[in-house]
Amino acid sequence: MIESRCKICGRPTIAKFNVDGQNQTEIEAVQAAVDKFLPMLTCNPCYDAHADRQNSGQVILDTCISLANSSGKRREELALKSTRILAAAIKTYANAIGRQYRAEAKYDEKAFVALLIDRPEKCSETLAQWRNEVRRQTYANTTP
Ligand SMILES: [Zn+2]
Repeated sequence: MIESRCKICGRPTIAKFNVDGQNQTEIEAVQAAVDKFLPMLTCNPCYDAHADRQNSGQVILDTCISLANSSGKRREELALKSTRILAAAIKTYANAIGRQYRAEAKYDEKAFVALLIDRPEKCSETLAQWRNEVRRQTYANTTP
């Protein structure tokens, strides 16, 4: 067992490894694997939050790409259909980044959905900006 820190939240995490090297070469190979994976280690809550964020972020991105690639009547129809999908995905996303940064990811659902539908090509930027705001809030909370 090796004590490490979660690369996302920095909390102490314990990694369990099955070390059953028979000779020096095998032991060295295990050690190299441990050295390689240790910096990538995350605690379980962070891992789950990360997976939720990835999945919901992908839904938001896919929806926005479809919107960005449509126009006229088709885009209007798509925007209507996307509202519920985006609202649900944003909710999951907010929850995930909130867990990840131990802060509350506040947002106005209607305004956020409208922003994404209005400027779907800015989707990645919009999400990144939001993440940065929530992350800043974390630091503000932890700064004495
Ligand atoms: Zn963590």
